[in-house]
Amino acid sequence: MGKAMIIKFSDIGRCPKQSLSPRHYYADGSCRCSEIPAAKARLEQLSKLRKKILEQIDNEIKQLKDDIIS
Ligand SMILES: [Zn+2]
Repeated sequence: MGKAMIIKFSDIGRCPKQSLSPRHYYADGSCRCSEIPAAKARLEQLSKLRKKILEQIDNEIKQLKDDIIS
């Protein structure tokens, strides 16, 4: 069992989203809202990278299949 997280009302009041999720807060009472733009940018970056890698894999599979057939 993990330690129960206690959120202070004062911490919730400082959060722009007023999040009730314990995971949203650091031990010092600051929240993760400031991380959201960076997380969104990284998510977009990873999504693009994933698409690119999948395209490369598909291309290579197609080439190999072509090689086997011809
Ligand atoms: Zn927040």
